[in-house]
Amino acid sequence: MSETTTLTADVVIIGAGATGLTAASDLVKAGLSVVVLEARDRVGGRLWTNSIDGQMFEIGGQWVSPDQTALLATLDELGLATYERFRTGDSVYVGRDGAAKRFTGDIFPATPTTESEIERLIGVMDELTAQTDPDAPWEHPRARELDSVSFKEWLITQSDDEEARDNIALFIADAMLTKPAHAFSTLQALLMAASAGSFSNLVDADFILDRRVVGGLQSVPLALSESLGDRVTLEQAVRTLEWNESGVVAITDTLRVEAKRALVAVPPNLYGRISYDPRCRAGATSFTNTCRSAS
Ligand SMILES: Cc1cc2nc3c(=O)[nH]c(=O)nc-3n(C[C@H](O)[C@H](O)[C@H](O)COP(=O)(O)OP(=O)(O)OC[C@H]3O[C@@H](n4cnc5c(N)ncnc54)[C@H](O)[C@@H]3O)c2cc1C
Repeated sequence: MSETTTLTADVVIIGAGATGLTAASDLVKAGLSVVVLEARDRVGGRLWTNSIDGQMFEIGGQWVSPDQTALLATLDELGLATYERFRTGDSVYVGRDGAAKRFTGDIFPATPTTESEIERLIGVMDELTAQTDPDAPWEHPRARELDSVSFKEWLITQSDDEEARDNIALFIADAMLTKPAHAFSTLQALLMAASAGSFSNLVDADFILDRRVVGGLQSVPLALSESLGDRVTLEQAVRTLEWNESGVVAITDTLRVEAKRALVAVPPNLYGRISYDPRCRAGATSFTNTCRSAS
């Protein structure tokens, strides 16, 4: 059995993706001590620049749009250069018939009826998006209803044109959330569009696919991690978070990190892989919503 080492810090951060490393850097700037625990053997999480057969590929996130002001500020701060997406020439659309069609502009080429249906649905989405506060989507007057129906099912109620529906779904599902349209609610789709300013912005390739980072977007977490130095520890999957009035202990297979606070910077679908001990505590805010929904 391997030995356990104990570390202490003001804040233990779980996850060395862009979120965890940005938080860690800000906390260090504020004079706090941090330990960042990362499960994998690399930092960056969903930002991963790799090389396949000698060709550089960005396997996760790569684009920077003008509304990503915090990211743009971080790029400036880290001295990372960006470049404009290649915009010259036609785009290529492969439709349901499998045939490749060249086109210009934002609307994928289809029959005139489908194209106008796509335009109409963009208008519907823009209107609903304008009513959605990206910082408080739950305040949308129809939040509960829109959160109870998948984006795919909701689109079926909006249009009989399957190709138009698929094209609208694509802008949020495949292009943004990278999961199928049946796997998230319509409210989540609106939150995604609202966070980009409008649904039309997601359709506008010149906006949403505006710039890339020289060396790849993973350069951001790599640079943040480098400046954090040995505060970041790889191959340390946090299995358990024990917490009480005086603080928290993050436990991996070989480390115990005792801290005043924990910051869980992992994707929501992975929260549940960590055991929280105790799972709930009266009068306290839980790490997850499980206590609230159980009470
Ligand atoms: C295919 C794809 C394309 C994308 N395109 C873009 C784009 O063009 N532009 C853009 O801005 N964004 C894009 N995104 C989104 C962007 O990648 C994410 O928003 C961002 O990387 C999320 O960062 P994060 O730190 O919140 O989470 P993550 O990057 O997921 O980082 C979480 C980290 O936590 C670690 N972790 C998980 N569980 C534990 C545990 N128990 N203990 C310790 N560590 C743990 C993980 O290994 C991971 O390193 C894209 C995403 C994908 C998947």
